[in-house]
Amino acid sequence: MKSNSTLVVGGGVIGLLGALELAGAGEPVVVLERAEAGRESSWAGGGIVSPLYPWRYDSAVGALARWSQHYYPQLAARLLAATEVDSEVHVTGLYWLDLQDESQALDWARRESYGLRSVALEAVREAVPPLGSGFSSAIYMPGVANVRNPRLLKALRAALQAMSNVTLLEHSEVQGFLYEGERVAGVRLESGEIRAARVVLSAGAWSGQLLETLGLRLPVEPVKGQMILYRCAEDFLPAMVLAKGRYAIPRKDGHVLVGSTLEHVGFDKTPTGEALASLKASAEELLPALQEAEVIGHWAGLRPGSPDGVPFIGEVPQYPGLWLNCGHYRNGLVLAPASCELLKNLMLGETPIVDPAPYSPAGRLG
Ligand SMILES: Cc1cc2nc3c(=O)[nH]c(=O)nc-3n(C[C@H](O)[C@H](O)[C@H](O)COP(=O)(O)OP(=O)(O)OC[C@H]3O[C@@H](n4cnc5c(N)ncnc54)[C@H](O)[C@@H]3O)c2cc1C
Repeated sequence: MKSNSTLVVGGGVIGLLGALELAGAGEPVVVLERAEAGRESSWAGGGIVSPLYPWRYDSAVGALARWSQHYYPQLAARLLAATEVDSEVHVTGLYWLDLQDESQALDWARRESYGLRSVALEAVREAVPPLGSGFSSAIYMPGVANVRNPRLLKALRAALQAMSNVTLLEHSEVQGFLYEGERVAGVRLESGEIRAARVVLSAGAWSGQLLETLGLRLPVEPVKGQMILYRCAEDFLPAMVLAKGRYAIPRKDGHVLVGSTLEHVGFDKTPTGEALASLKASAEELLPALQEAEVIGHWAGLRPGSPDGVPFIGEVPQYPGLWLNCGHYRNGLVLAPASCELLKNLMLGETPIVDPAPYSPAGRLG
């Protein structure tokens, strides 16, 4: 393996898109995925291209989200042209119902110039006919999209496989790092070693396990999320709706996803009957017609939970040559484009798209 390559550990949306951006800039890249690429959290997520409650997040999350939201349509078009796989960026807007912190949301929108506004319930009912009764207030943000994340991952994988400067090695679990002095100079697999100019750790919820082999504590922990899926008529749900922490997302073909749970149960991602019942109850409260619909899918994924949801992006000061792009918690799909662009900026000495300081691993690892 060429030693001037960048090794990317983890084939979720962060690893795959990071590899695409680096390879697009001419860098030789090797992606190492311990199972099949794109089958963990990035596959399991809902794909809303916005933080669920953008006004509750640190501005560091907001800066990446804003950049990514603008970039998503271009990314999908580029992937479609390269692979013929449509990531289905579906712009529906998002309604929040009965929010406790509605006025904070509206203040935030004014400050940040987002077109979030109060809407009369009558207007919501007209726009979203299947909405349940019993809600008393609503706010709406037009322009919010969702991306069909399993398709996005399929497109990313196909795009990488078509690039001559990319090697995607699946079923290749990284077990530890190689050093030259204090510099990280590659990785150890069961089958041998791969040397490289630098290593990017984007192993999602498992990133901390690998950093532990260096004696570093990365505060990224698995947070289980369960989702259910219905198949409805194509025009059943015209917009995304969210109430009491639960949301419904329409895909272009009428599939409706309802999520999600937030569970701190380690690395167990078994779907449970309790979550199924609770998600169904939320779905039927939001959209009563779903009582007549069949749940055709139920799954769980492990979000890479980090303090305040601020990802780690940058070089590890204690171990030059080792870079992080992980800890995107509930927002990895929306934050992926900006996170991967920022990582590329920092690695290649380009002007960064946003101030990199809040994401730097410096001072944030135990
Ligand atoms: C139910 C649910 C709903 C969500 N909804 C949304 C949403 O609407 N919008 C949004 O923006 N985000 C959402 N998210 C969050 C989003 O899915 C995650 O933040 C994002 O997918 C994280 O991407 P990742 O690439 O870091 O991790 P992952 O997709 O988990 O990828 C990590 C990869 O690393 C691999 N790996 C691990 N260890 C090793 C190793 N030692 N060697 C090699 N490979 C390794 C894994 O096999 C995996 O493929 C949701 C998540 C869940 C679970």
